[in-house]
Amino acid sequence: MSSSFSTVKTQGIIPKKSLGQNFLIDQNIVRKFVRAAKIGKNDVILEIGPGLGALTREMALYAKKIVAVEKDESLSSLLKDALKKEGVKNVEIITGDVLKKLPEMKKGYKAVANAPYYLISFLIRKLLESENKPKQIVFFIQKEMAKRICAKPPEMNLLAVSVNFYAKPEIAAFVSKNCFWPKPKTDSAIIIITPFKRKKDDLFFTLVKAGFSHPRKQVANNLSKGLKMEKENIEAILKKNGINSKARAQELSVDDWLNLSLYFSKENIVKESGLRDFSTSGL
Ligand code: SAM
Repeated sequence: MSSSFSTVKTQGIIPKKSLGQNFLIDQNIVRKFVRAAKIGKNDVILEIGPGLGALTREMALYAKKIVAVEKDESLSSLLKDALKKEGVKNVEIITGDVLKKLPEMKKGYKAVANAPYYLISFLIRKLLESENKPKQIVFFIQKEMAKRICAKPPEMNLLAVSVNFYAKPEIAAFVSKNCFWPKPKTDSAIIIITPFKRKKDDLFFTLVKAGFSHPRKQVANNLSKGLKMEKENIEAILKKNGINSKARAQELSVDDWLNLSLYFSKENIVKESGLRDFSTSGL
């Protein structure tokens, strides 16, 4: 298919399922990804799971510096040796597990990954909640997850509200599963997530998590139960904030939740309600 595919084969690599190793083997998609990430000569990149370096090599042509964290020791030393031989000087490979530690990055970095899908939610949450958020996140993620993150009312979900609280997500492209080796079960998407300056807000996530606790029920019922408040009170608050009192959580926009959270905060309502703990984010 492409040169990186023959490289994978000749290196005798046996992909490790336990590490979610599905290598990108289509050079057109590699270029598409790097174009979507708009990498320029001042960019410092954190790459998670470089594997054999398909994205790393292409990004190294344009970026100032790449810091890439790879858990698989054999792949990380293979890539280090290969890049040295090729004379690539702006890539630092760290052998490590991102679940344990992400490297300290200078302000204004970009985070990119074709990482195992089981790491994606963790990484998005970790990066969006971090004090030093990247200026952009560009990830391959499962197509269905990308669509869920980019959902709009009346099809919102907890993940979409949570990501949209912190950032603007957009799908740059859909990518066929045939572009990876071995072939994963599902197609992928390239998602670009551009964080805002907003900080984590426990009250916002308390409301949203309570609101989505039973997605088929009306949001007024869920909030009433979660916040231990009379349903009539909740319905009145929804109305005051321009929200249909019979709506389900999926019909509310992020702005609706922000308005509700502001209202609850001003009126000091949640503290008085002896609330159950919903405060961790929905990511
Ligand atoms: N980026 C390469 C590509 O596009 O071909 C490899 C992609 S493969 C889907 C995921 C990579 O993440 C593998 O190289 C795997 O070893 C690495 N990885 C898996 N778990 C990791 C972890 N916890 N920390 C760092 N790297 C990890």
